[in-house]
Amino acid sequence: MTSVPIHAEVSRREPAGTVARELARRLQSAEPLNATLHWSQSALDAEAARIATLDPASPLYAMPLALKDNLVTTEEPTTCGSRILEGYVSPFTGTAVGRLRDAGALVACKANMDEFAMGSSTEHSAYGRVKHPLDPDRVPGGSSGGSAALVAAGVVPAALGSETGGSVRQPASFCGVVGVKPSYGRVSRYGLVAFGSSLDCISVFGRTVDDAARVLSVMSGLDPLDATTVDRPAMAVPSPLRDLRGLTVGLPTEYFPADLHPGVRAGLDRTIAAARELGAEIREVSLPYSRYAVPTYYIIAPAEAAANLARYDGVRYGPRRVGSEGDIRSLYRATRGAGFGAEVRRRILVGTYVLSAGYYDAYYRKAQAVRALIAQDFQRALGPGGVDLLLTPTTPTPAFKAGEKTEDPVAMYLADIFVCAISLAGLPAMSLPVGRDQGLPIGAQIIAPEFEEGRMLAAAGALERVLGAAEEVR
Ligand code: GLN
Repeated sequence: MTSVPIHAEVSRREPAGTVARELARRLQSAEPLNATLHWSQSALDAEAARIATLDPASPLYAMPLALKDNLVTTEEPTTCGSRILEGYVSPFTGTAVGRLRDAGALVACKANMDEFAMGSSTEHSAYGRVKHPLDPDRVPGGSSGGSAALVAAGVVPAALGSETGGSVRQPASFCGVVGVKPSYGRVSRYGLVAFGSSLDCISVFGRTVDDAARVLSVMSGLDPLDATTVDRPAMAVPSPLRDLRGLTVGLPTEYFPADLHPGVRAGLDRTIAAARELGAEIREVSLPYSRYAVPTYYIIAPAEAAANLARYDGVRYGPRRVGSEGDIRSLYRATRGAGFGAEVRRRILVGTYVLSAGYYDAYYRKAQAVRALIAQDFQRALGPGGVDLLLTPTTPTPAFKAGEKTEDPVAMYLADIFVCAISLAGLPAMSLPVGRDQGLPIGAQIIAPEFEEGRMLAAAGALERVLGAAEEVR
């Protein structure tokens, strides 16, 4: 079933030149996945030379890192998986990537993604779909599917993705890797191409909880260039807990429907049993407003996207098409008509509609009110007298087949049913691989109160130790 070799981890603290050479071999062998958009031997050599000047004790010394192609760097193009940014090279590097490079991370490549991070399968990239590393007929999830596939195939130990409504947790679950979305405001968005500005979070994939935690801790923290970052001490890498004694884990009934895929249910049963075994108290809780999360998200995210994507006008970024009438409107029409794919156009249409006079109150304002109710549910469940963490499935099914949902946008949107409420609430959450069903990975989602990433990662580390991620769950 494997289409590319699954590599062992590069040993830590190898000389950067050795890492870069091995990395090039791995990137080459992973080409059939179509998971990368830009990489070159010369860029890898330049990274190795830069790292050779750093202190080998730097926290991420020579750690290869793939970047989703909506994170800007000055070395390589940033296309966001779109024709409208074909060949675009940013004049600056974003804060998170800058911090990671200063800490020794070696930028491996830019990774393929759904166009402008809109999608749940990485089939909406203008540069072709990404294949699932374990089964080329399946999708890796999305929109950060290229990053997820590269980690799952062992090309890199960690990768950056972005989350607006689940785009790291969902592909992490499909690919059997760790995917962590921090609290909104924990990591600077400066240098992340905007999709839904009140939701967007740079997020991280790792082969292990520890790799993801180390990357997150380096890139987190206040940034004067992003006013939504919070002034808190940088997130420390938590030591994994020996057990889960003293922790109460809530299972929201709404996230365990009767028709849940049997393999996903078996994976969650296994995780719940492991948490109990480790001493956690398990309690049922209710998040009644989560049932409105998908419709709420698919009003708010397109509204913000329609506003953010107005800047791609053929004047400032990327290729320019001169329209037939030769005036400015026809330039916009020609550039945007040729540059945006079907899903992006759909979002712009929906977003413009819900923001327009006459519909604003009926859709956008109502969605904002429901967003507050969804967030309140979580505050209640995770607040005083409540539980310490929540545990749910990450996705309703394992990785689906390519082409299965491309004709039905709503079916695609429902792939986010367990992840997007958390984005609306701004909370930290992660997907942990907890086993396989008929060879396909199953992920469990752990959700923590705002800025309690440490608690979440420490508990995940304990579970990771006892759950064999490659074991069949039923
Ligand atoms: N799948 C969701 C969407 O298409 C989430 C995207 C994301 O988190 N970037 O909008």
